[in-house]
Amino acid sequence: MTKPIPYVNDEVADRDFKYYIFDWDDNILHMPTKIRMEHKEPDGRWVPVELSTSTFALVRGDGEHYRPPTDGGWDAAFRNFADPDDANEPNRFLEDTMSALAKISQGGRPSPSYSTFKKTLVEGRIFAIVTARGHAPATIEKAVRLFIDNALSPLERETMMSNLRGYRRWLDKVERFGTDSEELDYYLGMCRYSAVTYDGFKARMAQDPIYKEKLATATTASRPELAKEFAIRDFVEHVFHMLQRTGGLDRSVAIGFSDDDKGNVKSVSSYIRAELSRRFDGIKFVVYDTSDRTLSKGRKVCVSGQMNLPGF
Ligand SMILES: [Mg+2]
Repeated sequence: MTKPIPYVNDEVADRDFKYYIFDWDDNILHMPTKIRMEHKEPDGRWVPVELSTSTFALVRGDGEHYRPPTDGGWDAAFRNFADPDDANEPNRFLEDTMSALAKISQGGRPSPSYSTFKKTLVEGRIFAIVTARGHAPATIEKAVRLFIDNALSPLERETMMSNLRGYRRWLDKVERFGTDSEELDYYLGMCRYSAVTYDGFKARMAQDPIYKEKLATATTASRPELAKEFAIRDFVEHVFHMLQRTGGLDRSVAIGFSDDDKGNVKSVSSYIRAELSRRFDGIKFVVYDTSDRTLSKGRKVCVSGQMNLPGF
């Protein structure tokens, strides 16, 4: 017999604060979206190829054999990773999210962080999506809603609502709750959706005094990593201010980051070590490298914190 789910789960007040930053492609879901590139044949000719995101993650540093289309450059390479110009056109990201979710419900193997993302939602924890894609935050939030509607069972959704009300009562001192849809809106509004090649994101980054300078000296190849850094700092600050407001900084706080791209894992790890862990020394940071598909949840690389040593 399972315990009935309470309307408000007050037990969330006993939990530690754990937050997650997720890359989307091949980390939460294996998306069918393709990147358009050119590949150098042995005879020296450059021919158009379409790469999956997982293949792209492996070859993106190989400028000798791969380059973006000569006609349109990187914008053309990632055309399928941005919202359509006309909002009435179908959104490829939402369509691809649906087909990726359908594959899993038909027995397909989920991506390494699929179950962690699901658990994060069911527990009602704040999270961020940080992706190299170019969508508006509202589009990514819609995809998260599709995930909630399709990957969570009715019981899991009920548990999520009970946890969300628990947090509202505990941290926001709310006693009169909104409808489920209002409470879900509130929760998803607290989360962050950063697609680092979205124009709005790039504009915000260019206005930041520190990143404006970092961008000026960055190579083209290191820009996506720099942008991920900026998105991560943004989320950590958001979490920190939220905890400051609610008085939650007196207990253990952990922030996890997962990505299947080794380049991102490496640069984010060194960014955390060099800057974030110093600025937020009460927060434990944990990085998960999910590039190895044979490991169900990726490899844990503890970057900052006292409980684990690197390599375990
Ligand atoms: Mg990825």
